[in-house]
Parts: sequence; structure tokens; C-alpha cells
Amino acid sequence: MTAHVKPKALENFKARDFRMLIDGVWTEGAGPVLERVAPGHGIVVSRYPAGTKADAERAIAAARKAFDHGPWPTMTGAERSNILLKAADLIAARADELAFLDCIESGKPISQAKGELGGAADIWRYAAALARDLHGESYNTLGEGTLGVVLREAIGVVSIITPWNFPFLIVSQKLPFALAAGCTTVVKPSELTSGSTLVLGEILIEAGVPAGVVNILTGTGPEVGAPMTTHPDVDMISFTGSTGVGRLTMANAAQTLKKVSLELGGKNPQIVFPDANLDEFIDAAVFGAYFNAGECCNAGSRLILHKSIASEVTARIADLASKVKVGDPLDPTTQLGAIITPQHLEKIGAFVTDAAKAGASVALGGEALDLGLGQFMAPTILSGVLPDMAVAREEVFGPVLSVLTFETTEEAIRIANAIDYGLSASVWSRDFDTCLTVGRKVRAGTVWMNTFMDGASELPFGGYRQSGLGRELGRHAVEDYTETKTLNMHMGARTGWWMPR
Ligand code: NAD
Repeated sequence: MTAHVKPKALENFKARDFRMLIDGVWTEGAGPVLERVAPGHGIVVSRYPAGTKADAERAIAAARKAFDHGPWPTMTGAERSNILLKAADLIAARADELAFLDCIESGKPISQAKGELGGAADIWRYAAALARDLHGESYNTLGEGTLGVVLREAIGVVSIITPWNFPFLIVSQKLPFALAAGCTTVVKPSELTSGSTLVLGEILIEAGVPAGVVNILTGTGPEVGAPMTTHPDVDMISFTGSTGVGRLTMANAAQTLKKVSLELGGKNPQIVFPDANLDEFIDAAVFGAYFNAGECCNAGSRLILHKSIASEVTARIADLASKVKVGDPLDPTTQLGAIITPQHLEKIGAFVTDAAKAGASVALGGEALDLGLGQFMAPTILSGVLPDMAVAREEVFGPVLSVLTFETTEEAIRIANAIDYGLSASVWSRDFDTCLTVGRKVRAGTVWMNTFMDGASELPFGGYRQSGLGRELGRHAVEDYTETKTLNMHMGARTGWWMPR
């Protein structure tokens, strides 16, 4: 590995100072300032206000006022749709700036960040289409004197809390659908990667979103996030993050019985049969493990290989993985960027050390890489992993691939399901029966067959069991941000309790 050289793009770079958005006004907040050190470059790149409980209360009050007094919830679907379409155009126009921010703050490769921005703009367009198509049901089958109409109404004020691993993409899986439904929002990005969400605030103002409809708070979870989960004026929480904080969020929401949507962790199995197209699978396995440095809820971190092909496939994956280009996130040829914080790098290293102590073999990597600045980890493969080892059950959230083996289809399904998570899975076989049998029995919100981590705005995404509650994307995403109201209408004379029958 060559020593790290400060990239040209950062030579004259000055850290950007951000403010929070409350009730249409950019504000410094009452607390101190948080500095974000770029994980791949070791310099301060952003400063945000450390929001406080008082800031959260002001933002919630602004969202409440904007919901209760309008005009956002009472505008036509077409009007909201046009604003969301304009926002999508502005996101596309500022995609390079947004991708740059996500790249330097999270350490993800710039080429990948640009791809995520394209996907995000598409989601805003898809949500804009749904804003015009949100409707309920009618029942004209309830007898001559009755007409039933089921309305979909915006649920109200929504708290949106997002993690650091896909800063712009994840807020885009939530906010446009909440806005399409007519909700007002308080958004809190991760304190590590708030930049692109704050630029989104500028975009939404320019697109015509009225003051108070989108408020954006910066700061830590316990300080500014927690009040967003407890305040009685919040009607719903849409949270993406760790299962631990998800559990806490649900407990907080229970105090006032808020609706909760949770997108949490994953430990996603990839089950491979001997008749699979191994060339395709090996490429997908390397992509699934090292995409976003494995800091991905969908990471294909648990290979479950048929015993007869396990050693050949592991060797081929190790060969390809050793060619993955690790380095400066701003280099357009980098495939594996930096690890989010030094503490997280240590945590990943501990998983590897503990797995080796428990009997797994390090088939590739296993160590941190010193590239001069920032924190990096070599693509790592652990073979001989057993289903009950921590590295096979817990989310490592780093570039670490665990290889397990199976002999029968039933055993593969049992291993796949024997954990607390159920976010996604994949099955690889040329046999249609095998794919469908496994696909129907694996308990996960998405099952890929002979592919990995493909997605589309139209396809729902979310987890079984401790991977979450509810689904994002797809045409039902907008309905998640609504309440259902029944209008039961009577025509003609009513037969009352005391009236003659
Ligand atoms: P995290 O749970 O530490 O933080 C997520 C967000 O919650 C951050 O904005 C944080 O500030 C906030 N938060 C922390 N404590 C809080 C509290 N007490 N009250 C309210 N908010 C609080 O997660 P992270 O480390 O930022 O992200 C990584 C996790 O996110 C992983 O577990 C990953 O699997 C998960 N994730 C899931 C999906 C999915 O769609 N299922 C997608 C991406 C990431």
C-alpha cells in the first residue's frame, strides 16, 4: 500500500459551517458546535450546531403549527407533487456537491456516492407520482341506506431519524413519502454526516416547501434525537439505525403510542448451491461484502456455501477480494473507502480477533491499513465460521465476510434463519425449484435470486424480526404516513333504537 497523499480536491478545502433549519429559518442553535473529521482524510470538513432539547421543542412546535394550520396538508396532491418534482430536479442539479459531502463525511467512495444521488433523485420523482395517487376506498355494497368511504389522511408530525452510512439515500427513502402524504416533519441526520441533509433543506426551500414543513436538527441522539421520540406533539417516528436505538425508540414511542417505522440491522445470508453460476456469484459476493466498506445493513456478510464447493469458492472470492482497491474516498477508482470512526474500526478488529480465538481462520486481510490519514480496513474473509459464533450472528458493519457451510437445503435454511435479524437474503442456483423453496422459507424482507443488492423505488424494503417494522419504498410507502378514517354515511330514514321497526 502506498502512503496516503492529501488529495488535490482538498488542498484548498475549507471546512463548511452549517446551521439548523427551524421554521424556515437557518439557526445556530443554543448549544456548542460539533466538528466532523473526514474518516478518509483526517481533517475537519464540517461543523454543525449541537442541537439541544430546546431546539427539538422549537422544531416540533413549528412542524405542529405547519400541520395544524396548513397549507401543506390541505394542498392538492398535484401541488405537492410539483414541488417534489422540482426538488428532484434540484437534487440532480446539485448531485456532485451532495455526493462530495457524503463522500468526505462518511468515507464512502465518490463513485458510489454519485450513484446513490442518482437513486435518491429517482425516489423523489417516484414519491411525487404517488402524491397524486394517494386514495382510500369506497363501499357501495352495504345496503341501500349506507355508503362507506375510507379516507387516507396525513398522520401529522413525523420525526425522521437517520444513520451515517447512506446519509442522503436514507433520508430520501423517508422524507418525500411523508411530504407526499401531506405530513410535516422534523429530520435529524446522524451527527457524523449531517451535511447533505442540510443542503437538502436549502433545496426544499427553493422548491417551494413552506416554512415549518421540513425542520432539520443537528446534534447527538440522546440530546436532540430523544425528545423527537417522546414529545406528545409528534404523531409518528420513522427511524433507521441500530437495533439497540430502534428498541429504545419504540419504548419511548410507547409512552404516547406513536406509530413507529423502524429500519434496523441485518446479518444477511447468501446461500449458494453447487449448480449456481459461480462466476456471477463470486462477483456479487465481493460486491456484497465490501460495498460501502461493509457498513451496510444489507451487506452480504454471511455466506452459506454448499460444502462441496466451499473451499474452491472461498479461494476464488479471496483472490478477487485481494484486488479490491482500498484508498482515498475521493479517488474515482477507489472501491473500498474509509471506516466511519476510529472507535468503529476497533470494534470491527475485535470481531475478527474474537472469531479467530473461537476457531475461525482468517483467509484474507483481518487488519487495519495505515494509508497515512484516516482509518481503513483490509477486505477480510473468515472461513470455518460456525453458526453460533458472534461473527456469524451479530452485525459487524465492516468489510468482513464470514463463510459457513451446509450439506442439505433444510440445513441451509435453518442456518439462514437461526439469528435475530431478517433484513435480506440471497439464493444462488440455476434450479428454479431450489430458488423458490429457499426464497419462500427464508425469513427476510427481501430475497434476491441469482443477484444481490439490486433495488428499485417501486420495490418495498424492510425487515422481519429484529431488522425492523414496516416497509419503505414501493407504492405503500406513502400510505405508511397516513391514518385511516371511515366515513359511514346514512341516507333516508334511519331505523333507530326506540323507533318503530
Ligand atoms: P445509530 O442507531 O447509532 O444512530 C442512528 C440515528 O439515531 C443517528 O441519527 C443517531 O444520532 C440517532 N440516535 C442515537 N441515539 C438516539 C436516541 N437515544 N434517541 C434518538 N435518536 C438517537 O446507528 P448508526 O450507527 O448511525 O447506523 C448504523 C446502523 O444503522 C446499523 O445497525 C445499520 O444496520 C442500521 N441501518 C439500517 C438500515 C435499514 O434500512 N434497515 C439502513 C442503514 C443503516
